[in-house]
Formats: sequence, C-alpha cells, structure tokens
Amino acid sequence: MSVVGFDLGFQSCYVAVARAGGIETVANEYSDRCTPSFVSFGPRNRAIGAAAKSQVVTNCKNTVQGFKRFHGRAFSDPYVQSAKSNLVYDLAQMPNGATGIKVMYMEEERVFSTEQVTGMLLNKLKETAESALKKPVVDCVISVPSYFTDAERRSVVDAAQIAGLNCLRLMNETTAVTLAYGIYKQDLPAPEEKPRIVVFVDLGHSGYQVSVCAFNKGKLKILATAFDSDLGGKDFDDILVKHFCEEFRQKYKLDVKSRPRALVRLYQECEKLKKLMSANSSDLPLSIECFMNDIDGQFEEMCAGLLAKVEGPLRSVMEQTKLKKEDIYAVEIVGGASRIPSIKERVSKFFGKEISTTLNADEAVARGCALQCAILSPAFKVREFSITDVVPYSISLRWHSAAEEGQSDCEVFPKNHAAPFSKVLTFYRKEPFTLEAYYNNPKSCPTHSQFLIKNVAPQQSGESSKVKVKVRVNLHGVFSVAGASLVEVVKSTEGEEPMETDPTTAKDDESKMQVDQEEQKQTGDVGEKKSEAEEMEMATEESKEEKKNEPPQPKKAKVKTKTVELPIDNNLHWQLSTDVLNGFVENEGKMVMQDKLEKERNDAKNNVEEYVYDMRDKLHGILEKFVTEADRGTFSLKLEDTENWLYEDGEDQQKQVYIDKLNELKQMGQPICDRYMEAEERPRAFEELGRQIQQYMKIVESFKAKDEQYDHMDELEVTRVEKQVNDAMTWMNSKMNQQNNQNLTLDPVVTVAEIRAKAKELHSACNPVLSKPKPKVESPKEEKATTNGPVNGHDEPQPAGDKATPTKGQETAENKLPEMDID
Ligand code: ATP
Ligand code: MG
Repeated sequence: MSVVGFDLGFQSCYVAVARAGGIETVANEYSDRCTPSFVSFGPRNRAIGAAAKSQVVTNCKNTVQGFKRFHGRAFSDPYVQSAKSNLVYDLAQMPNGATGIKVMYMEEERVFSTEQVTGMLLNKLKETAESALKKPVVDCVISVPSYFTDAERRSVVDAAQIAGLNCLRLMNETTAVTLAYGIYKQDLPAPEEKPRIVVFVDLGHSGYQVSVCAFNKGKLKILATAFDSDLGGKDFDDILVKHFCEEFRQKYKLDVKSRPRALVRLYQECEKLKKLMSANSSDLPLSIECFMNDIDGQFEEMCAGLLAKVEGPLRSVMEQTKLKKEDIYAVEIVGGASRIPSIKERVSKFFGKEISTTLNADEAVARGCALQCAILSPAFKVREFSITDVVPYSISLRWHSAAEEGQSDCEVFPKNHAAPFSKVLTFYRKEPFTLEAYYNNPKSCPTHSQFLIKNVAPQQSGESSKVKVKVRVNLHGVFSVAGASLVEVVKSTEGEEPMETDPTTAKDDESKMQVDQEEQKQTGDVGEKKSEAEEMEMATEESKEEKKNEPPQPKKAKVKTKTVELPIDNNLHWQLSTDVLNGFVENEGKMVMQDKLEKERNDAKNNVEEYVYDMRDKLHGILEKFVTEADRGTFSLKLEDTENWLYEDGEDQQKQVYIDKLNELKQMGQPICDRYMEAEERPRAFEELGRQIQQYMKIVESFKAKDEQYDHMDELEVTRVEKQVNDAMTWMNSKMNQQNNQNLTLDPVVTVAEIRAKAKELHSACNPVLSKPKPKVESPKEEKATTNGPVNGHDEPQPAGDKATPTKGQETAENKLPEMDID
C-alpha cells in the first residue's frame, strides 16, 4: 500500500510520500519538486508537467493550464465564461453540459472533460511518486480548496479514478496545512486544557483561504473557514498584463490580446516581474528592468483593489469563531503568493502581530496530505492524531410535504458543522419521495443533488411508514444520502410528524465519525458509491446502536419492528455516469500507451542521431588507429548519409526503422570499437596474468629453497604446478609477441577474454596447492602470523591492491597470498 499526498494546485503540484525516514516531498524527472499543472497535446503524444509548460509558447493553442476551477462547473457557468476570455486555448461544452477543453491531439480535434485533463496530470504525479517509492502507487490523499463544492469534489474524485488512483480522502488544503503544522508539535496543550488557536492563511495562484484551528495534544479541530476564491497570485499578474496591454496599444498600436503567443509571453514576464518586485531584488535582468521602471511605485496602487480583499476572510473567521485577537497564538501563512510583501503586511496588521512562516510555503499542503494518508493507511504507524474538519457551506434538504402540497426544508449541516459526520433523519411517508440537497447560499453553488427514496409503501394499517434516512458529509467533504430504511412498526403509538431528527443524532459525534473513517480505511470507497451490502451493514450497526441508546420501554414491549433497506436513486449534479467514467479510464490507458510508444520511437531516433555524432567524432579521434583509411572513408560517408536521412526521409519513421538503421551502422562501427576496447584493456589483462605467474613462481622457488613456510606442501603437486605456470608464461609471451606485430586495424590475435580465461584456469589449477595452510597448532596470535605472514620473509607492509608490474613484483613481494580477483 502506498502512502502519498498530492497537492493539486492551480499553477503547480507537489508530491509527498511517506517512507521509513518520514514524510518527504519528492522531485520529478527534472529534479524539481514542483510540477507545473500543464498538459500539452501534440500530433503524436501528450506532454505533462514541466515538459508541457515548455510548450506553452510554441504550442499555445494546445497547451492547457488553469483548469482546476473548471471541475464541477457547467460550460455556461459565469466563472467559466469569464475565464474563457483570458485563455489562449479553447473550451467547449461536454455532452452533459459540463466544461470541456478543446485541443488538437493526434491530428484530430478532441474535447476532453476537465476530469480527464486533471486525470492526466494526476497520472504524471503518480509516476513521480512511483519512481520515488519504486513501487506502484494507488492509494493517496489529494488536496482541494476548502471552498470546493460537492460537484467540484466529486469531479476531482473522478479524475483520480481516471488516473488509476484510489483517493482515500480529498483533503481541504488548509486542513492539510494544519496537520503538517500540528502533528510534530510536542508542546500542545493537554486535551482538557484550553486549546492553542492558530490561524492559517493560504494565498495560492487562484484562491485565498483562511482557517482557524484549535490544537490540543493528539488532535486538531477546524473552528471556521473563510475564503475568497477570486483572489490569488494570478490576479496580480492579470493587473500587470492589463496594464502592459494598454500601454502597448497606446504606444505601439499593438493588440497583444489578439496574439496568443505574445499574450502567453507577456503573462510569463509579468509573473516574473511580480516575483522580483516582491523579492525587492536589486539586480534585475535588463528585460525586466524596463518593465519595472515603467510601473515602479505604481504596483501597490494598481493592486489596491486586490489588497483590499485580504481583510474580508480574516474578519469573517474572527466573527464566526467569536475569538478575540488576543486568543490567537500564531498566524501561519503559506502559498506562493503569500510572499508578496503587501499581503503579509495586511495580514500582520489585521492581527496586530508578526506573522509566522515556519512551514514550507509551497510544500506544506502535499506534506499534510501524505501525513493524512499515513494516518489512514494500516500499513503505516503514525502518531495518533484526530482531525475534525468543517462543512464549508450550510447544506439543506428540501422535500415535498406529505400532509399538504408545498415544500418543507431543513438545514441539516450548518456552516462549520464538524465533518465527516452522519445523521439519521426520520420521515413518515406512504410513497416514494425525493430529497433535494442544496447549499443555502446560492452563490456558493447553484446546483442541487436529488435523492429519490424508493419502495416506500404505507403500513398494513394504511398509516404512513417510518423511514429512516441517513445523511452524511463523508471524508471527502461530499454530502450524500448514504442510506434509507423502512421501519415497519407492528404497533405504533407515535403521532404523525412530517419529519423528526432522530435522537441518535445527538450521540452521533466523534465515535460515529470513527466508524466512518474505519470504513474508508477498509474500502477506500467514495461514500455515495458504497455497495448496498455495506450500506446495509451500516444501517444495522446503527439500529443496534439505537437500541442501546434507547432507554428500556416496558410499556412498548410488544411492539415489534422490522427494518427494510430502501433503494435510493441518486441524481448528482455533474456526476459522470459509470459508463462515461469507464470510457475515460480506458481512454487514459490508451493515451498513456501512445505516449510510451512515442517515447520509445523518439528514443530510437535519438539513438541513431547520437551514434552518428559520436562515431563521427571518434573516427578522427580515439578510433583513428583502429580503422584503415579506406574503411574510415566509407564509414564516414555512411554516417553523413544517415545524418541527412534523419532530416529528410528519416524524420518521421516507425521505431523499428530506427532500430534497423542503428544496427546497420553498428555493423560497420562495432568491430572498430571492439578493436579499440581490446587495445585499451589488453595491457592490464596481460599485466594481471603476469603478476599472477610471478607470484606463483615465487612460492615455487621458496618451496625449492626449502623455506619452512612451505615444507608442508607436496612435492609432486608443486612440480605439476610449476609446469603449468611455465606453460602459461610461454603462452603469454608468445601471444604478446604476436600481438605486438599485429596491425591495429586488424582483429587482435588474442582477446582480453581469452587472457582472463587463462588467468582463471591457472588460478584454479595452482591456488589449491599453493595456498594450502600450514597445519600447525600454535597460539592464535602466532598462527595468524603464520598463515597470513609474508611469503618471502620480508615483512614491510604493502599497500592493499598494489598494482605492481611483474618485474617490480619480484622485488617487492606481496604480503599475503593473493586473493585474486579473477573475474
Ligand atoms: P492554488 O492554491 O490557487 O490552487 P497553487 O497552489 O498552484 O494555486 P501556489 O503555488 O501556492 O499556487 O502559488 C503560486 C502563486 O504564487 C503564483 O501566482 C506565483 O506567481 C506566486 N508566487 C510565487 N513566488 C512568489 C514570490 N516570490 N513573490 C510573489 N508571488 C509569488
Ligand atoms: Mg495551493
């Protein structure tokens, strides 16, 4: 099981993994921990991340970015329509009305859903995690802004599925940050003490989020969140871009907006300019400097409107929590755009205190997600830490009233209600009915989800049946009707009420949440997609609990109840159907395969190109001596032809064509390379063999000189060894002579492999005889000295692995019997 956290940012993404050493943010194939949220489409493949960003100017119409906020939105949504005017690529409407992205891919016009594009990006991030962990990655935690609605969240979960990921939790970005902050703190107040209150501020590229968190030892609880989803670093870029567009129009009569490439460039330059201005850097690149002079001093003024928006969410969280500024222990700030000095100033001024930047502003979200994944993963041992998040918008249910016509409604989860959380609602109904969920603030999300509770029938007596409906906000922060059951009461004394909140609700606190989390752990499933069996299980568990919680009622002892699970029809806004989603999964697989094939094809082509350049260099360099002039001429010509071919007919060929081409070249080149390699290696091989021969000879000599070190050896055996050593010497000398007279442009008379084989053969024949230890019983110290002692009486220390030449070896013998490195 993998433990991975993904920060899916509007502009850039980060990947954090858990390993034995702890949580680590990992780098992509460019050794960069930041992966741009870009996908580029080409005639043969896609590029994702940094490779895509590098095409943003050259292939601007087909390089998409800034799609994070298209999740769960209709094409006609005002946000989409207004974003559209600033994009250089095209958007289109999906068949279901959602936002799609129109590009040319594989020389065809294609419309991809937002889920698909994010799925592509996630697939890339998954690869990054996989290459860091060196194993497949499936389970993960993905971040979303705290202001994401149900539709947006479900859409991201679908994207994860397209990428073959199992998202254990969609985690609110600021909540991930609170976890990254809190879990390592050793000095948090004890559970019964007053919590430590910390405010977290995240200003990213597209959005601004604030949350207030209460920390105690082993737990964190989000108290409130506020946000401005229309304030981010991007808005500062927009202001600069607008300014320069206007200026170019006036000064040069240039309409930058109508030139996509120029617009993309201008955005890049303006972002650089913004960063440089916030860094207060004195040495600016020339290109930037003239921009800079142009707006020097005006920037604050130009951005006054944006800066004024900083305070709203800060004020809002303070009002929601009714906290005083003195109650705030610290204000932590993260997100790339939080580096803008005037932003920091505003936040600091509001709270009347220095703001802290103890967290990594770019990586804290990913790290928090990886920590959450580790907590959810049974495979990882992490410090116990309980996380209570909040519902960002109040959620209400609406239904047709049973008694009279007209609608009734009820707020089921007010804003800042703890999440994840389940509640059980009771209805009295004679027929199937529909519950419609909606956000109370229509601006937050004008969409609705509908849940049809089916198979409801009156009781035998004709009275309304009691229907228990379980609603919940799951781990992803998504609202759903998780189950419904019909309680058949044989005898009921309860009066008819349109709806009541079940008494278990009050008890339905953290312990119930625990149940939810447990389920998620086991199945990693999305709440509303739970199998029926599971829903049933939950319901039984609940009714058990209910019975436990109900005081014994002797008067009603004879009343029997029977619970029947009811099917529910979900009509979720913008939810992809299973068929469509499966189609996307399949398509993503095909595109991944296509990218892989294209990469292999390109690699094969590059190999030919590299070989041509490499060989051309070497033919007049190190290889020169090893090829005849005539052959060199022919080969050079062949290389030149190939180079031309690569730019003409060979520009665009199948992989196999390149492989064949390379083999063809190698047929000419390889023998030359081989001769060179042989000539390089040969002296060392001879030298090693020579040294070996010398060493054996020396022992034989010592034996013959009756050296007592060797008097245990068998004479016959030594004689046999001596002969073998002499034979090897003769063989070597003759080969050396022959080779010295051989032209280097011809194949060698003896190969390095043959010399090494000879050495090996000699070793196995001689070593057993010559290194036989002297059978002696002495004190361990002396014994050691004997077996390892100098073979020739000298005992000067010798450097290990001494590479003495055979003649030198005779004078300064090795200390030990050589442990020969034959292979
Ligand atoms: P979001 O959180 O909205 O999804 P994101 O996570 O991709 O977006 P970040 O990476 O947190 O966003 O921040 C990117 C923004 O921060 C960009 O607008 C970038 O220009 C800005 N930024 C980064 N460094 C600096 C800096 N030194 N000064 C000013 N702005 C900066
Ligand atoms: Mg972010």
